Amino acid sequence: MNLEVISTVLVANRGEIACRIMRTAKALGLTTVAVHSDIDRNARHVREADIAVNLGGAKASDSYLLGDRIIAAAQSSGAQAIHPGYGFLSENADFARQVEQAGLVFLGPPATAMEAMASKSAAKTLMAKARVPLVPGYHGEDQRLETFRAACMQLGYPVLLKATAGGGGKGMKVVESADELAEALASAQREAQSSFGDGRLLAEKYLATPRHVEIQVFADRHGHCLYLNERDCSIQRRHQKVVEEAPAPGLSAELRRAMGEAAVQAALAIGYVGAGTVEFLLDERGGFFFMEMNTRLQVEHPVTEAITGLDLVAWQIRIARGDPLPITQQHVPLNGHAIEVRLYAEDPEGGFLPASGRLLVYREPCAGPGRRVDSGVAQGDEVSPFYDPMLAKLIAWGESREEARQRLLAMLGETIVGGCKTNLAFLQRVLAHPAFAQAELDTGFIERHKAQLLPPAEVLPEAFWQRAAAGLLATDADRQRVDDPRSPWTRRDSWRCGLPGVARMTLVSAGQRQVVRFDATTVVAETSVFRAADTLYVRWGVDWHAVCRFDPMANADALPLAAGGLSAPMNGCIVRVLIEVGQAVEAGAALVVLEAMKMEHSVRASEAGTVSAIHCAEGDRVDEGSVLLAMEVRP
Ligand code: ADP
Repeated sequence: MNLEVISTVLVANRGEIACRIMRTAKALGLTTVAVHSDIDRNARHVREADIAVNLGGAKASDSYLLGDRIIAAAQSSGAQAIHPGYGFLSENADFARQVEQAGLVFLGPPATAMEAMASKSAAKTLMAKARVPLVPGYHGEDQRLETFRAACMQLGYPVLLKATAGGGGKGMKVVESADELAEALASAQREAQSSFGDGRLLAEKYLATPRHVEIQVFADRHGHCLYLNERDCSIQRRHQKVVEEAPAPGLSAELRRAMGEAAVQAALAIGYVGAGTVEFLLDERGGFFFMEMNTRLQVEHPVTEAITGLDLVAWQIRIARGDPLPITQQHVPLNGHAIEVRLYAEDPEGGFLPASGRLLVYREPCAGPGRRVDSGVAQGDEVSPFYDPMLAKLIAWGESREEARQRLLAMLGETIVGGCKTNLAFLQRVLAHPAFAQAELDTGFIERHKAQLLPPAEVLPEAFWQRAAAGLLATDADRQRVDDPRSPWTRRDSWRCGLPGVARMTLVSAGQRQVVRFDATTVVAETSVFRAADTLYVRWGVDWHAVCRFDPMANADALPLAAGGLSAPMNGCIVRVLIEVGQAVEAGAALVVLEAMKMEHSVRASEAGTVSAIHCAEGDRVDEGSVLLAMEVRP
């Protein structure tokens, strides 16, 4: 087709990335088409698009993964091109091929290049041929336990098992010793099979504390490829990135060039076109090892945009139209420093499990020079358990790393989220940590500093409860509605004629309950409280705590469950019940395996005891908080 005629783009994605792609498309004068599932009918990416097409049910497999429907939506809405974003169908070579066969432009690499990198094993074989250094490991076809046992013995423990078709940390397990191998292999295979429809695994030497440094590459249709510097994405939990920055602190110009050239070589070896990322692990001595290539736009691309001043989505569109790369390698800019954090609906204290709920309060930092917010949600939106729980990315740029860090801390301080657990306070602690300020980065960062990054919940002091009580009274809706808020007859704070007003309230926050004798003269700053329905959000240090009045009736039911019961930490599906009624278990023993977001989580015994009842079975769908089994604790 005539590539000049892209005037309408369909974005086959949701959330922040759909909004971000449409922003550039609009800036280029293009019409935008959103696709959505039933529950995303009113989502922000739908509201921001010119045209929206419903794909089907809430589950990704009933909507965002239905390639045929997406292509039909493009055709019916007059789109000439499809941008897949990241995740969903973005790295699905069959989909890319079907898009092209339908006479549409796929805003991504050619299907053949995606296929070459689709399997981590095949990619490693290919890279070895291109003389790109690899992480040592076993990536053969033979998937028998004995084969892995022999290979891992030779590599030396610990080893890391990975799904060859993997991504997003799914199907990935660290194995510390030979006796853990069989169980880890089985679990990783199950996860890989359910996530990717392919249970094949590879094993790698598990490097102790490497840095994750990746190279952004870009290639045009005329055989030119260049690298747009690197990103350091070492700050990870569950092997997934939470903080990313560019450039990588301390990387010498020589190492940048060596890694950049290796990445370009990798891209050229597979006839790459468009935006791609070559991921490496970097050791302390400056040795770098190829891990995988991601054949799409990455979540963390904004930090590259910030230091180069380029719009990578605009480049993707121009290159798909047949334009040559607009600059050469020596003209790739590198200005200042940028840091991005990913704001997730998740529970850092609870193993970073995804969270869901309604965003009763959601405030983003103000815009300004060096500040960027890429988000896909708005106040009132529901964060559903069906999709990735990332809410927004906050990106700060500065002349120096320290300036970017300070700016990002300020942005985090302006952010408020209520109604859903998030990693907001955790991100603030990471950014404020002296080791982060010193750029002491490696993938062990969070684990090493967890005492400071995940401190035990503090006992909330009296001043907090005073602030909460004052805030609740000041924001009570019926009080604000009356004609004369100063009239003693409308006051709810135990006003007494001629005496100081003293109110007594029972409040709950973060599982703590407190009887507050409230001194009516306490004044509360508007910036430190935020009311949504019956809940007051109170700023305390870097945290926002939800505070409610204690309702003994509402709590009566909940109390007996807590004793000895083990509940689901999140919405999910029971994949394994590992125990039987009457079985004695030790503290820490895995009892039930729950799958959520295609990842397996073990529910473990918090204390030693005997299982007295099991309330779930393999295959059950369970809600967060539902009781899975009962235990009698061993005295
Ligand atoms: P995924 O594609 O599932 O995200 P990756 O292969 O990209 O998985 O790895 C994710 C992260 O896991 C890396 O950024 C790194 O922190 C860690 N990791 C991967 N391979 C190794 C290894 N061999 N040794 C140590 N850490 C590793």
